[in-house]
Amino acid sequence: MSVMPALVQKEMLATMSLSCWSIIIASGRVPICRMREPPVKKVLYWCTRCNIPLLGRICGCGAEGCAIPLLRPYDARPALRADRDLLVRLLRERHGTGRLPRVIVLNKTGGMDRKDLVIANGGRFGWLSYDPVSKKYGLELTFESLPFVMPTATRNVLELGELQGACRDVGEGRRIGGKRYPAGRKVPDGGVILRWNGNGGVGMAAGGMVKVKEVGRVNSVEYPDPDWDTVITRNRQHLKNLERNAIRFIRQQAEGHRCVNISFSGGKDSTATLELARRAGYGEAFFVDTGMEFPETVEFVKSLGIRTILRGRNFWREAERRGPPRKDDRWCCEVLKLAPVKEWLLGKGECITIQGNRWYESFARAGLPATARNPFNPSQINISPIRNWRALEVFLYIWWRNLPCNPLYEEGLERVGCWMCPAMLESEFCHVRTVHPDLHRAWLKFLGEWGQRNGIDREAISTGAWRWKHLPPKMRGRERD
Ligand code: SF4
Ligand SMILES: [Zn+2]
Repeated sequence: MSVMPALVQKEMLATMSLSCWSIIIASGRVPICRMREPPVKKVLYWCTRCNIPLLGRICGCGAEGCAIPLLRPYDARPALRADRDLLVRLLRERHGTGRLPRVIVLNKTGGMDRKDLVIANGGRFGWLSYDPVSKKYGLELTFESLPFVMPTATRNVLELGELQGACRDVGEGRRIGGKRYPAGRKVPDGGVILRWNGNGGVGMAAGGMVKVKEVGRVNSVEYPDPDWDTVITRNRQHLKNLERNAIRFIRQQAEGHRCVNISFSGGKDSTATLELARRAGYGEAFFVDTGMEFPETVEFVKSLGIRTILRGRNFWREAERRGPPRKDDRWCCEVLKLAPVKEWLLGKGECITIQGNRWYESFARAGLPATARNPFNPSQINISPIRNWRALEVFLYIWWRNLPCNPLYEEGLERVGCWMCPAMLESEFCHVRTVHPDLHRAWLKFLGEWGQRNGIDREAISTGAWRWKHLPPKMRGRERD
């Protein structure tokens, strides 16, 4: 048992920014983490022997994982096909190399729009972000990525001598991290890699100047490159435990109730929940079609044989009257989703609804209880058997059980709901333009016409600021840029 106070351990984890590999290189051993798992997992364990993420602390190979601190809301998910393609493209464009490990994990975090911490090879690999104004993605590498990236990077790699004054500073023992130097040659704005005498660093070029961010010794490391099947195999015991606990929870809560149903949204979370409910002995699922669902989602629901499809009022008529749904005015939830369910359950008595909500989905859901009476319909008790799963657990479970999954995830969407949902990121809405240009056009037309009559200007539509009735400070700051 560790005698280190829990608070100190927590602080250590919060500040630990080195990759697991660099710790091993420095100490020659796998770091041991002996603290009790907190209810909300704020770290991702990684087996450095297999080079894979772990759902628990111990890998199927027997090694103990080391902890990588995650960022709020602490959700970790696999980089799927489109995510990986995007990372390869960005890396190739900026640094001339498209080499990436097969297993990459993303941790979404708050920002102007999409912002993901990219985790690979047991550490923080970089930051993937989207600028809603320029409509461009960017990938900023971390120092930890260098042992993997540096050997094959060809573009925007600078020798330290190319930064005027940097070699002198190093020679005189001065710190160069955090300082700006004029670049000796033309470097396009964006991330740069620095190197000299077995050392490396990352920096940011802007207007002919390079700001050095982090520098240090870069050791050469051979990383194993397993696939996701290996991740499933090594995590099988954890998946079994998760499944067993969720099924037991469903049975405990549903026992003695005549009315038990599953709320199925077409997303990954409800796909896993549907499977768990079926294994627990419950199969009556319903899907609420808001009229604004992606065609892929409607197809997917049909393919699963879900027959109870509920519908509320007509979206377009309501939107004309009330305005577009906003992040701070989601009238759509009540009108399009809650109302038809309430009507369907009318006269059925007290009902248990099994839903796929999770703590890690958003800041708002972080306190989601195991069971809760629906305030909109008090005869409905919502239970959340996968509330403590992260997206990583959900996808691994789906893959382990070989379940069909909504294809939109592989195409690059992080969440599937209505295709114009205000909770969507601008990056996702731009993706809608690629896959469903007709839907994208229809929404912009509605926003343009309604906006003209009700004071939403063109800029708010093009930057995605229409999603707020009252702009939060972070967006107001952006408007001034
Ligand atoms: S998915 Fe979005 S747009 Fe659709 S009902 Fe929910 S909040 Fe509204
Ligand atoms: Zn392992």
